Amino acid sequence: MKSKYKVVLLITFLLIILSLSISFLNYYISSSSMQKQLRNQALPLSLDNIYTDIQKHIIRPHFLASTMANNSFLKEWLKKEEDLEEIKNYLKDIKKEYGLFNTFLVSEKSRKYYSQNGFLEVVSNANSLNRWYFDFISKDKKHEINLDLNKFMSNNLIMFLNYKIYDEDKKLLGVTGVALNISYINELLKTFRTNHNFIVTFYNKSGKIILSERNINSASSIFDKKELLKYKDEILQEKSTIIEYKKDGNTYLLNSKFIPELDLYLTVEANLKEFNSKAVNVLYFNIFASLIITFVIAFLVSLIIKNYSKKLEFLSHHDTLTKISNRRDFEAKLRLQFSLMKRKKNNISLIFIDIDNFKYLNDRLGHHIGDKVLVRVAKILKSDIRESDILARWGGEEFIIALIDSSVSDSKNLAQKLRVLIEGDITLNKLMSGTITASFGITKLDEKDTIEEAISRADKAMYLSKNNGKNQVSIL
Ligand code: GH3
Ligand code: MG
Ligand code: MG
Repeated sequence: MKSKYKVVLLITFLLIILSLSISFLNYYISSSSMQKQLRNQALPLSLDNIYTDIQKHIIRPHFLASTMANNSFLKEWLKKEEDLEEIKNYLKDIKKEYGLFNTFLVSEKSRKYYSQNGFLEVVSNANSLNRWYFDFISKDKKHEINLDLNKFMSNNLIMFLNYKIYDEDKKLLGVTGVALNISYINELLKTFRTNHNFIVTFYNKSGKIILSERNINSASSIFDKKELLKYKDEILQEKSTIIEYKKDGNTYLLNSKFIPELDLYLTVEANLKEFNSKAVNVLYFNIFASLIITFVIAFLVSLIIKNYSKKLEFLSHHDTLTKISNRRDFEAKLRLQFSLMKRKKNNISLIFIDIDNFKYLNDRLGHHIGDKVLVRVAKILKSDIRESDILARWGGEEFIIALIDSSVSDSKNLAQKLRVLIEGDITLNKLMSGTITASFGITKLDEKDTIEEAISRADKAMYLSKNNGKNQVSIL
């Protein structure tokens, strides 16, 4: 393989290695900073936001239910359960005042259920819709939260805050509470998923899922989530915690927080893959862009190398000033023609040309004018020889022409013509403000010659012209 292609390949290879390393390093840095940001900021911040939002919406009704349970009017009323209008108005006023979905009271003595609309029904253990009451009073806790989907209200999520009412002797008088429409929570959870790709879940102390976005989570308890089981104790504890777990080949981060007001654990989960996808896209783009840039650079480098090697190739065979062949090129070309001549038996003549008094010209007008004269003379010589003839700058102010298939007399005619052209050239005359001349020496190439001998003879012929007064043509 040519060495210039090796260079291009090497540059391409190095650029690809460089750009791939930069892209992957970039990816690694952005991906780990994203994880750090998720772990230290985004997840805890979301937990706090949800917590604050829930506090804002629930804490007030919670205290309201607690106040109702401790209200002496309610306790007195339950002891008698006489004036229905009285309790109805009480519940109605609270519902209206606080914009609640429902307010209710159940008497333990009569098992009657009262709402803001008055007496509704007698709760019975046999009725599954009333089961909550019997479950609650059997438990050793003063209050609880129940969530229910209200089938009569387009499946809105309703939160019941239930409080037990005791008399002075700690005897259960009944249960009171408020119900809130918390459909907005479902929207809140949905927003967290669609905006941040976070899954939000509420667990109670026994690990049961109390609240999660509907249609998203099929599990009903932490025990249904195999991947979370071993972290159960870490999640369901009062201290806020972050765990990392794997599921279906994906890595998740889970941040949990205990909400004492609700006696619930709030968790926010994020799939790292989804957060990484941005960094992955950037990685793909970087690789793609750097490959394109690499190939463009490789293409440009190959063009530059091609151009330079062309220039170098030209320079190695040509004279930089006059752009005609140099001595080396002349000799190589003449050697070829000489061997052809020996086979074809044709004629080759050499004309050696030396500009007269060039040193004086240089001294008088400066080197740069001397250069212009050389360029012009080369142009005159070139325009009057055949394509097949070989013209070269021999050195300094000396030129040589090999005339192929040309007899000595033809060569002499041409040399005379060239001599006259140089002497009468208007451009040269203008440059010099006077005439410039050259001396010519001609010789015929003999089969027995070496090239060096023939050239030397032409040089000698040129010196004959010099010695005879310059500006003339001599033959040897
Ligand atoms: P003669 O008539 O006997 O040939 O005299 P001359 O002055 O032409 O010959 P000489 O060999 O004494 O001087 C040649 C001069 O050519 C000397 C040198 O400075 C000049 N020369 C050689 N190469 C260049 C060139 O590339 N540019 C210019 N401007 N001058 C050059
Ligand atoms: Mg000379
Ligand atoms: Mg000279």
